[in-house]
Amino acid sequence: VSVPTVTLNNGVEMPQLGFGVWQITPDERATEAVLTAFDAGYRAVDTARIYTNEGGVGAALEASNLARSDVFVTTKLWNNEQGYDSVLRAFDNSLAKLGTDYIDMYLVHWPVPFHNRYVETWRAFEKLYADGRVRAIGVSNFEPDHLRTLLDSADVVPALNQIEFHPYLQQHELFALHRELGIATESWSPLGQGTVLGDPVIRAIADRLGRTPAQVILRWQLQLGNIVVPKSATESRIRENIALFDFELSEDDMAAFAAIHRGERVGQHPNDFI
Ligand code: NAD
Repeated sequence: VSVPTVTLNNGVEMPQLGFGVWQITPDERATEAVLTAFDAGYRAVDTARIYTNEGGVGAALEASNLARSDVFVTTKLWNNEQGYDSVLRAFDNSLAKLGTDYIDMYLVHWPVPFHNRYVETWRAFEKLYADGRVRAIGVSNFEPDHLRTLLDSADVVPALNQIEFHPYLQQHELFALHRELGIATESWSPLGQGTVLGDPVIRAIADRLGRTPAQVILRWQLQLGNIVVPKSATESRIRENIALFDFELSEDDMAAFAAIHRGERVGQHPNDFI
């Protein structure tokens, strides 16, 4: 399998499909899942400090036959580490756990507007980027007003915003704003954590194409231009979720997906999350 890349706003190429490892713990289990994903053809991994499996991802990098430069590693700063000096410390901790000397993509995990430290946090991200310790920097769960506040004082425009995005939450406002600002859209919980797999419209499209609901949902995301990081700890599903490059959804199928938006979240609203 060869996964296409998206060219980020700083020219870096990022695989459009990666492997999400939230809730795959402990480290040994994460290592095994990531090695399975590498074997299936994934070349990007999405972890975070708070997932407590950066060590497991690092062990998979070490155990695989892949060169470090063949893998795109994303990790995220946890909320209680926002600030300037604390970011620099947290970054070093993540590097040590991952057993690498650079990160491909470092994300501010949540804006936490209640604490109002994300602008200062971003200055530290810009420092890490200027020092060449990270190839690209981005944000996650930023609402339009958080992005605008950040951009008022930022030197570096975030390369992407990783947001909850699935058939029941199509994020029309952010999707349009990202285009305008040159920020890539990355979907977390691209399968709605499984809740959208039984949708009758999706099932009908899947049945007609001889694919699974998960596959047509991920294919829909790719055709929208989104970067996706589906998660599974089951080998057959890990393989299924990357078998997306030998079929296409028609314009009618894309329109059918557009019509099932409900504005329904599986996660918390970013304004409420501390
Ligand atoms: P997801 O939408 O990827 O769904 C995963 C679940 O769907 C699995 O646990 C399994 O139950 C089911 N599933 C997966 N593949 C399937 C298949 N082929 N057939 C049937 N069922 C299948 O949900 P997620 O894990 O929440 O999100 C994916 C990744 O996004 C995470 O691992 C993490 O890396 C990232 N994420 C980021 C944030 C954030 O705040 N930035 C939040 C949540 C998740």
